[in-house]
Amino acid sequence: MKVAVVTGASRGIGRACAERLADDGYTVVINYSHSEEQAQTVLDGICERGGSGMLCRADVSNPDEVKKMFRKIAAEYGQIDVLVNNAGIVKDEFLLMLSSETLDRCLDVNIKGYFYCAQQAVLKMFRKKSGVIINMSSVSSKTAIAGQSVYSATKGAVNSMTQTMAKELAPYGIRVNAVAPGFIETEMIDALPPEKREEYLKAIPLGRFGNVEDIASVVSMLCSDSCKYMTGQTLVLDGGLSL
Ligand code: NAP
Repeated sequence: MKVAVVTGASRGIGRACAERLADDGYTVVINYSHSEEQAQTVLDGICERGGSGMLCRADVSNPDEVKKMFRKIAAEYGQIDVLVNNAGIVKDEFLLMLSSETLDRCLDVNIKGYFYCAQQAVLKMFRKKSGVIINMSSVSSKTAIAGQSVYSATKGAVNSMTQTMAKELAPYGIRVNAVAPGFIETEMIDALPPEKREEYLKAIPLGRFGNVEDIASVVSMLCSDSCKYMTGQTLVLDGGLSL
């Protein structure tokens, strides 16, 4: 048995990663913070296709809830082979309009949440001297998008923590990489005004927004032995947007 924990797996990119890893044979832990019904639908679909897993509610920005979640996972499965740090939020605000609430919440979920989950997962991975962590970054960490100074700062931090975690954890057989999606068809993109959608679409050389499977297939590859010599990298999956 191999166990993969995917944070923020009740919809969007996290859902696709959970489904893909289940198809790859992992028992999948589906984390969410509010959307229990959607998370249950994801788990039901996985089980219908012959896979297995469980739901774990936790706000990744709350260290006590994260510890409790990982205790529950340990009690159920005793091991963790893969962590996909995916749960994230985006709140676009121009610098002069930026509220301290937005700043705090983005830092708490998009940065601290990744650290809390990585710490807990690594405690389990140490024992096996193997493991894979994938941190979900964003093309915003590479390309300036007006209104996203906080979001892009959090994703820049994700790229940096990925490099350092990779160096620290390599002696223990744990690989850490990041994936930086461009514009992917999810609720995040659905929320854009139509004129912004058009503008962004024009800027993508491959001529389309990505879909969640475009990201999940690369996450699957990064978890596999075909990438066993790769660590500390950030792969940009953006249809050429950042070129
Ligand atoms: P999404 O559709 O909004 O889904 C976000 C997921 O994260 C949901 O399952 C949500 O569950 C969960 N979540 C949010 N806050 C949480 C918290 N504090 N604790 C636990 N779970 C939480 O987002 P998405 O578009 O799939 O994005 C997923 C990741 O990809 C994010 O890190 C995002 O920054 C990154 N990304 C997305 C795009 C894009 O175009 N969509 C591009 C680049 C990067 P609940 O509803 O239960 O809270």
